[in-house]
Amino acid sequence: MDDKTFALNEYFTKSLADNRILVTTRHGSWCELDKREYDLLQRQNFEHDKVLFKKLKDIGIILTESNVESVVKRTALMFDDYRQRNFTCVINLTNKCNLDCAYCLAESGPNQDEQDMSIENMYSLVKFINGSPWDSIDIEFQGGESTLRFDLIRKFVEIIESNLDKHKEIRHFVLVTNLTCFNKEIADYIVKKNFRIGSSLDGPEKLHDFQRAFPDESGSYEKVVYWADYLKKRGVHIGFSSTITKKSLEFGARAIIDEYMNRGMEYVMLRPFTSCGRGEDRTDLVMEPEDFFKFWKDAVDYLVELADNGIYMSEKNLGQMIKNIFTPYRTYMCLKRPCGAAISQMSFMQDGPIYACDSGKRIEALKIGNYVSGKYADTLLNSLQLRTLSSEAQPLCDTCVYTAFCGTCISRMFSSWSDSVGRTPRDFDCKVHKWMFTYIFKKMNDPRYAKLFSRLAGAGRGDDTPCRTHEVS
Ligand code: SF4
Ligand code: SF4
Repeated sequence: MDDKTFALNEYFTKSLADNRILVTTRHGSWCELDKREYDLLQRQNFEHDKVLFKKLKDIGIILTESNVESVVKRTALMFDDYRQRNFTCVINLTNKCNLDCAYCLAESGPNQDEQDMSIENMYSLVKFINGSPWDSIDIEFQGGESTLRFDLIRKFVEIIESNLDKHKEIRHFVLVTNLTCFNKEIADYIVKKNFRIGSSLDGPEKLHDFQRAFPDESGSYEKVVYWADYLKKRGVHIGFSSTITKKSLEFGARAIIDEYMNRGMEYVMLRPFTSCGRGEDRTDLVMEPEDFFKFWKDAVDYLVELADNGIYMSEKNLGQMIKNIFTPYRTYMCLKRPCGAAISQMSFMQDGPIYACDSGKRIEALKIGNYVSGKYADTLLNSLQLRTLSSEAQPLCDTCVYTAFCGTCISRMFSSWSDSVGRTPRDFDCKVHKWMFTYIFKKMNDPRYAKLFSRLAGAGRGDDTPCRTHEVS
């Protein structure tokens, strides 16, 4: 059969500028059309314009026998959650913490009176993991500040290493820590066991100390950077995130990126403050979505300036959005549909409950099982509803021009709306995501931005060519 027999696929559009119309598909390919081309597409009058016909066929808007299979394959890849076959088990050994940060999703703190994980529960948890289909796992210690019970970290590692089924492997141990309880003994252990570290650095000293203080109101910055620099010198992999609040806006994106550069970090993650957990009453920290977007845009502009001078840094949301725009793989669990809750990770509490995601571990609706009294199969059944929350089930997302690249966070939806379905388009994340994607697409033709974007898209492009289309094959 030749190209005379074809069907028109579903597509979504957005005007980017005069004579620039973005056209996207549900399977994640896209192109820009000028007004003339767009008009021909709308009127389905493209058969005699060979260049336009090929352009639309290349991205799978025109479906023929020769490209339909690659369109189907690409759609399947976007939903192939098991491609990497790696699962993150978040282990909460204690909910105590020595800091008293302005916000804390886990509501941890010095006065926490919940019990720490018992040795008996550790064995139950390993048994639960052995009953799951996960072959490759990351063990991530969260909390609370688990280094307050360093003895329990050692014990859990010992138990899982000697009791995990032989066909399963631990890919990484990860310690999420505020770094302020570190000492030489802990550091030596981290290095020896090849742990990765996740921590928080909100920005320059004054900002970090304002947001992350000890109960006596003294700041934690000095200890954080001391141990981060120390561990980095010893070859430990460290990642930081920065929680952006109304206070952060006073300092500006550049100051935060400079702080990360000074620490030798290759990327920064700018995470908007959520008013839940202990941050629920901190209305003084709440930003308008417009303010966060402006802040993020300044950060991107600064990253481009740095790239002009040969310094390449990334911002995690930007990097993941670019990857979603240029590849069919959805490897970041927080920017895909369904998101990674209960699919890429579960969070295990000290006393038995299992939550679909660590950031939702205070949200009753995200409780999906119990590793002391239940089995993996029950937990899986309880997570089915979460697994169906794809864009196809979300009002407005379903027909949004960014539907193939975006994602919603169930934890944030519950915090904002007490529901798993966000109130698009009023939702903070929806507004911000829409503006971010639009900014990225608008800047795609600017060689300076395209150079950084190409680099962030990862291997494969290998040049600085502005990325005008993304095709299906
Ligand atoms: S959350 Fe908003 S920006 Fe994202 S796909 Fe849905 S409607 Fe579009
Ligand atoms: S609930 Fe939110 S934080 Fe958790 S995996 Fe989903 S998007 Fe990420």
